Amino acid sequence: MIDKEILNLMACLKCKSELIDEGDYLKCSKCNIGYPIVDDIPHMLEESIFSLDEK
Ligand SMILES: [Zn+2]
Repeated sequence: MIDKEILNLMACLKCKSELIDEGDYLKCSKCNIGYPIVDDIPHMLEESIFSLDEK
């Protein structure tokens, strides 16, 4: 889990909207993408982004 204050400082790289902590990744519900969290550190990098379009 990511600290709420840190989470508030972070925004989606693509659309700048706020991210949702999903436990092991941060989600942008607008873009339907996720940013992985590794060792409590969110990987906010273009190359780390994965798609959540499984539906
Ligand atoms: Zn986004």
